[in-house]
Order: sequence, then C-alpha cells, then structure tokens
Amino acid sequence: MRLAPELAAAAAFTGLAVGSFLNVVIHRIPIGETALTPRRSYCPHCRAPIRARDNVPLLSYALLRGRCRNCDGAIGVVYPAVEAGAGALCVLAVSRFGVTLAALHGAVFGCFLLALAVTDARTLRLPDMLTGLGFSAGLALAAAAGVLAGTPRPVAEAAIGAIVAGSVLGVVRVAGSAAMRREAMGLGDVKLAGMIGVYLADWQLVLLTIALSAVVGSVVGLGLRLAPRKRLEIPYGPFLALAAGVSLFWGDALIQAYVRVILRM
Ligand SMILES: [Zn+2]
Repeated sequence: MRLAPELAAAAAFTGLAVGSFLNVVIHRIPIGETALTPRRSYCPHCRAPIRARDNVPLLSYALLRGRCRNCDGAIGVVYPAVEAGAGALCVLAVSRFGVTLAALHGAVFGCFLLALAVTDARTLRLPDMLTGLGFSAGLALAAAAGVLAGTPRPVAEAAIGAIVAGSVLGVVRVAGSAAMRREAMGLGDVKLAGMIGVYLADWQLVLLTIALSAVVGSVVGLGLRLAPRKRLEIPYGPFLALAAGVSLFWGDALIQAYVRVILRM
C-alpha cells in the first residue's frame, strides 16, 4: 500500500513517543518499579530527573551526544534504538494495514514484542507483568475486532492461537529439558509464546514463528558459543519476538512461497 507522507509522519511521531515510554517500561519493570512511579524519567547514573526538553525522542540523544546533561554519564544506545524501532513499527503497521484496527493491532503487538525482546536481552527475564499486559491487550483488540465484525470469531481464533503456541512450546520445554538434563527454556518463553498466539490468531503463523525462531536462534546461538568471549546463557525471547513480528507482517507470503517450493519438488 502506498503511504501518504503526512500519514507516515503521524505514525512515526506516535511511534517515537510510544518508544520513549517503552524505554521507561524496559528499564523500570525489571527493577520492580512500575512505569508510572516515579513520574519523571531520570538518569540511570545520577538519578537526576530528565528535563522535558532533554526527553525528546532521538533528538535529545543526538544533541547531548548520548550523555546526561547533569553528570555526563553515557546513556545507552538502547534508548534511541527502542525509540527508532517503535517509530518504524508504527509506520510499517500503517503502510501494511492502512488506518485500521488491524494496524493498531500490529503496532501494539510490535511494541510489546520490542519491549519484551530488549528486556530479555538485558536481564534474561520476561516479566509476567509485561507478557500479561500484552496478552490482555491482544484479547481486547480481538474482542474489538469481533464487535466491529459482529462475530465472536476473532476472539476464538486468538484463544486457539494462544493454546497452540503455549502447548507447542510447553512440550518443547519439557522434552528439551529432559533431553538436555537442564532447563531448555524458561517458563517465561512459554508465556511469551501464548501472548504471541493471541495476536497471530492462526496456527500456521504460530508454527512458522516457532520454526523461524528455532532456526535463527540456533544459528546465532552457535555463533555466540564459538565466539572468543562465550556467553553461556542466551535468551530465546528475542528470537521468538523477532520471528513473531516477521510472521505477522510477512508470514502469509512466506508460507505461500514455502508451499510453492514444496509443490515443485
Ligand atoms: Zn546523570
């Protein structure tokens, strides 16, 4: 779909603002603070409150060259990356689905995936609060789609998606842990899969997500294990999140291409 420039700009600005909030979520939930207390954003080094004019997504980071105005401490590149990522996701959702409930669904899903992937990469944790919120938001969006279409079908599809995704990863977790004689994946990954299933609401897309994440995760995991500085524990969540995003936006095309290849063999 061709995207009008003013629409793209509106989606980008909305995404940047949401990304700024996601940074708060990403940095506060793992340390047990809620996103709303304390109200103001603060510097992770000196805890000085960040002034409103220094809290403009991307721009402030560039102008202050990634340093706190108060203590000159380095502000991680994660902050602008999350803002840019959320902005890009919102533009992608609107260009793919137009100004529709489906675009909102895609953007909300993408933002939860982004927050969860970054949190898992930083802390090796997928907080229940985040997956739970994502799960509830997905069900609410499915219910809204159902009301608009006058059918309970979207809610049923979301529930089936969650059950398929959660059970497949649940089985992989139990079987994998038995085979490896240590925890193959955390319970957080199973819950994340359930949340993903609510949004994908399609068993084929769920299986595509799990297959993609397993392939990419194995390749990257092997690479990291062979690297000189070994990382012993590699989170699975970021791969699951990435694969889920790819499946939502391009999954149908990928499945069709795959079927064509199979039919030709
Ligand atoms: Zn500071």
